[in-house]
Amino acid sequence: MLMGSFLLIVSLSYAQSDAELTRSTLSKSTIEGHIYFLASDELKGRETGSPEIDIAAQYIANTFRRYGVQPVPGAENGYFQPVHLEKTKPAEHLSLTIGDFATDELLMLKGQNTELSGEVIFLNYGMPDDYQKVDAKGKIVAVRSGSEGKAGPNDIFGLAREKRQVAVENGAVALVELTQLKGVMWGRFKRYLSGEKLQARSQQTNDLIHLWTKGEADTFEKIVKKKAQGQITISGMDRTAVPSKNVVGMVEGTDPDLKEEFVIYSAHYDHIGIGQPNNEGDSIYNGARDNAVGTVTVLSAAENIARHPTKRSALFILFTAEEKGLLGSEWYVDNPLIPLDKVVYCFNSDNGGYNDTSVATIIGLERTTASENIKSACTEFGLEAIDDPAPEQGLFDRSDNVHFAASGIPAPTFSLGFRAFDAEIFKYYHQASDNPDNLDYDYLTKFFGAYVLACRKIANDPVTPFWVKGDKYHEAGEALYGDK
Ligand SMILES: [Zn+2]
Repeated sequence: MLMGSFLLIVSLSYAQSDAELTRSTLSKSTIEGHIYFLASDELKGRETGSPEIDIAAQYIANTFRRYGVQPVPGAENGYFQPVHLEKTKPAEHLSLTIGDFATDELLMLKGQNTELSGEVIFLNYGMPDDYQKVDAKGKIVAVRSGSEGKAGPNDIFGLAREKRQVAVENGAVALVELTQLKGVMWGRFKRYLSGEKLQARSQQTNDLIHLWTKGEADTFEKIVKKKAQGQITISGMDRTAVPSKNVVGMVEGTDPDLKEEFVIYSAHYDHIGIGQPNNEGDSIYNGARDNAVGTVTVLSAAENIARHPTKRSALFILFTAEEKGLLGSEWYVDNPLIPLDKVVYCFNSDNGGYNDTSVATIIGLERTTASENIKSACTEFGLEAIDDPAPEQGLFDRSDNVHFAASGIPAPTFSLGFRAFDAEIFKYYHQASDNPDNLDYDYLTKFFGAYVLACRKIANDPVTPFWVKGDKYHEAGEALYGDK
């Protein structure tokens, strides 16, 4: 007895390092168990809206429970955040009349069955300044698409959301963008915008109608500038509710002050479901890399932090509907369970594949002041941390982290090691071959070790992480937290 209690005292008085604590819960067989289950054929590719993705959600919640992760106040049954989505059947008929001019060559970005009329006003590019001297309330606002000198498809699409937001804030009933799009590009957008689509359930009452006209923007502009009355008719649309959920859990921090700050550890757990069979006749898109791996980064952090809490509090979130347009993360940011200004960092994980098992690729590595913590964590597990190898792909803004970043929260994405989008990546990326049995689990063990250690370092660092100066989202950060 004496010897035993002596040993106990010794082990208690010895503070373990974050690296040691990370290794104490890191287990290759646990990792394999999670991935083989989440990416099993029985879960049929975890498509949002399918019964099988709910089994994945239940599995994640129960794993939280088993690890001792605490329920989140306000969450359903402690671990679920309902995400109300709906499937829309596109409109059968769209038409726009301005004065004595009419067209049905339109694309709808947002709207519902309606028949509305109102005064049409032309507001240049439809940016906030353009609304300064006018009252747009109740009016149909017509604007040029894109911005001065930027009229390419990416510019147009990239600005559409912001323009819609501005129009909503100014009380417009409809936003009509006059585009130069025609031919192949028009066809592409038409296919993209006119298919069946999943989206967040809309508040039908105050929804702005948002349309694009086809080509001939200059002609439209002349007509619109005559200050005519306009009419918009939309019919044949149909919506059905698609229930869905984010899975959440938390661990309270240990430091009396720092526990007021939260770090979010997140990944999407959905994938793309059943699709075209490949040459082997496999039609189940299991999504082992994309994103059972990301899900398990979060589960690994949850297991570790529940066992050995960090100074800052931890919030774990597994998002639904990333593959449908980042819908689960958007929903979370619009309906946060912990106020966003209490969240100091969002460490996301999303994965397509890997082609270099000596690295971890962090999209946005050098964009936050936590980069040294992430790099040293990778080094500890024999990996080199590298930044986005293909910034031209815009990956930073194409995963769930972007909704947090745009709110001001520093939010990089931790990914399996890739140095380029090459054939090795496309062999598995959104393919039926993305299976659990062709993953390198020795590499994954290091990868999860590096992620968990980086989480611990960030959550224990006395200095609160932030955007580096000059970053695109630095200003949003200052606005969220107040000047630092
Ligand atoms: Zn994907």
